[in-house]
Amino acid sequence: MKKIGVLTSGGDAPGMNACIRAVVRCGVSHKLEVVGIRQGYRGILEEDFIKLGNRSVANIIHRGGTILETARCEEMKTREGIRKANEILQREGIEGLITIGGDGTLRGATALAEAKNVKVISIPSTIDNDVYGTDYTVGFDTAINTALDAIDKIRDTAESLPRPFFIEVMGRNRGFIALEVGIAGGAEDILIPEVETKIEQLCLDIERSFKRGKKSCIVIVAEGDEAGGAFSIAQQVWERLKLEYRICVLGHVQRGGSPTARDRVLASKLGAAAVDALVNGMAGYMVGELKGEIAFTPLRETWEKRKELDSNLLQLVKVLAG
Ligand code: ATP
Repeated sequence: MKKIGVLTSGGDAPGMNACIRAVVRCGVSHKLEVVGIRQGYRGILEEDFIKLGNRSVANIIHRGGTILETARCEEMKTREGIRKANEILQREGIEGLITIGGDGTLRGATALAEAKNVKVISIPSTIDNDVYGTDYTVGFDTAINTALDAIDKIRDTAESLPRPFFIEVMGRNRGFIALEVGIAGGAEDILIPEVETKIEQLCLDIERSFKRGKKSCIVIVAEGDEAGGAFSIAQQVWERLKLEYRICVLGHVQRGGSPTARDRVLASKLGAAAVDALVNGMAGYMVGELKGEIAFTPLRETWEKRKELDSNLLQLVKVLAG
């Protein structure tokens, strides 16, 4: 293998730059030519390529976002889009492709890999952590620490007046962010799409927490909770308890910021492992980390199988709410 491409796609996540850096520097150490593809899969179809060397990835390890930018590309979801992408990659002499992104990016990578023109290895990177085959995705650790920082600050102000705070965190389909942030932030309740939200029970929990003498009551809501987001849930609670409340939607701050040490290390390990895999002739896998060890999962499995939430953590929330 002489030439490889690297792209970032879907929602950006802190640590993507550290990943690109690792891919480029490990690629160069294997004497590979490394091509950056701008704006995800769209960059393949629009032939938006840039040559990357060791100096092009200097001083990016600490930066959020992605120097290659990212985009959503509907054309890649079509048979014609995949055919065109394969043709362009082949014409460019790009024999190996490393994709960095979440669930949708992995679906695109699977379609490209199954055409068998180009060898594809993927790296899971999304703040959502909803990818099967890795304990953590690149970006998740930074996102939960950003959310936690905000929650700690809200707790200070929440303590001065006894009213519930509903804090909405990202997670359209899954509750990984809400669960970890809720445990680490000492939340009273955590509402996630995986567990049915019972408003009556939530009201009881809130009432009891103030009766027990607690000075603050923080409820973490995943944006995709089936009972609605923080605004809808707070309104439903107000209709029953007539208790004044406050809402905070953390939104896109969770996507930004300098990646944590854990995310930088994970990104570096996975970037290096992806290049090694290509050099060793592997193709059609996602490289992740399971129980501290590098682990390869067939691309299709990463989105066909469902990653389970840690049920022990779910149980723990109630106990720790005291
Ligand atoms: P995040 O989890 O952070 O949102 P993501 O990778 O899941 O990241 P998506 O927007 O779902 O983000 O997907 C990124 C891109 O992957 C899409 O814009 C599209 O180009 C490609 N893609 C998604 N689904 C498919 C599919 N089924 N087949 C081919 N390509 C796909």
